[in-house]
Amino acid sequence: MQSVITTSHEVHFDAVAKEALNQSIKANTYSKIFVLVDQNTNTYCLPLFHKMFDGEVDAIITIAPGEPNKHIETCLKVWESLSDLGGDRKSLLINLGGGVVTDLGGFVACTFKRGIDFINIPTTLLAMVDASVGGKNGVDLGPLKNQIGVIRQPKMVLVLPSFLKTLPEREIISGFAEMLKHGLIVDREYWNTLRSNGVSKDVQSILKSVNIKSDIITEDPRENGVRKKLNFGHTLGHAVESFFLESNNRDTLLHGEAIAIGMILEAYLAHKLTGLSKLDLDEIKETFLRFYPKVDISTKEISKIKSLLIHDKKNSHGNINFVLLNEIGDAVVDIKVPDELIDEAFTYYK
Ligand code: ADP
Ligand code: ZN
Repeated sequence: MQSVITTSHEVHFDAVAKEALNQSIKANTYSKIFVLVDQNTNTYCLPLFHKMFDGEVDAIITIAPGEPNKHIETCLKVWESLSDLGGDRKSLLINLGGGVVTDLGGFVACTFKRGIDFINIPTTLLAMVDASVGGKNGVDLGPLKNQIGVIRQPKMVLVLPSFLKTLPEREIISGFAEMLKHGLIVDREYWNTLRSNGVSKDVQSILKSVNIKSDIITEDPRENGVRKKLNFGHTLGHAVESFFLESNNRDTLLHGEAIAIGMILEAYLAHKLTGLSKLDLDEIKETFLRFYPKVDISTKEISKIKSLLIHDKKNSHGNINFVLLNEIGDAVVDIKVPDELIDEAFTYYK
């Protein structure tokens, strides 16, 4: 299997991954090696990690799983553990887990002793196709997603689809939403393949998604232009996700489930503003509803979701900018959207 070379770091797949990890550890003289896991990846992923890793781990640090733990309080515990365990500037942190572990672990590594090396081993489909490229590390602030963080690249990323064998189906489907997004923004053929073959976690599709993301980021590392395309579905999707995270009487949605809603809503905006055809719009809605059952959202909830939009990172000078589609496979960035169209989009979703 191959590797994807991004401008900043390499993403190694399957058999190559094991070799790359062991070689890199040998080549660097790390004083200590720590592995960060959550309670689930401790149980399900550590055994495979130990099998592939020839070196010795000094300590395993375990955090509680799930998005509600992606907070600064958890970082504090990990910083303290690293410090108590004798971590220094020459230590290495290996993050073994889903996006929560890789985002938070990356942030901890970037800030501990002003920055130590870290390696990410994503164990969810979502983290493999999304968090593996781009170097975004960070935590949530209250219910608001990824408000605190830094951009810095891991030493390397290792993608081993074998980890997905123990991942619950709902999490797999959640990760699939980001893959569908990759098709929608730049590659209609990929979108067609995914929507006709259904949920896919095979290495070829993961590689395809990693390549799409890597190409975009290579072209625009600082998110001045094309990189914004990766935010399709996320402006409204993040607001929906935050609303459900915050709400006491609604179950939380997984990230992919929230952005699936976001993509239907933003496809509607695109139909109204940037020429997405009715045919494409309906195809997008039909596809997402096939994988992500409709969620009831009341009018009162819609206004709360809209009030969360203002915190979105794509919001600058009080204007909320959207990434919209001209057609399936082609996105345009920096589109301003009138408020009432957002209500209409929710009506279309219903
Ligand atoms: P995401 O990558 O979607 O941001 P999280 O880090 O929140 O995901 O992981 C989603 C859930 O799946 C968490 O409860 C996590 O502990 C669990 N998990 C992660 N990887 C695996 C795996 N390979 N097998 C089983 N459970 C896993
Ligand atoms: Zn996302």
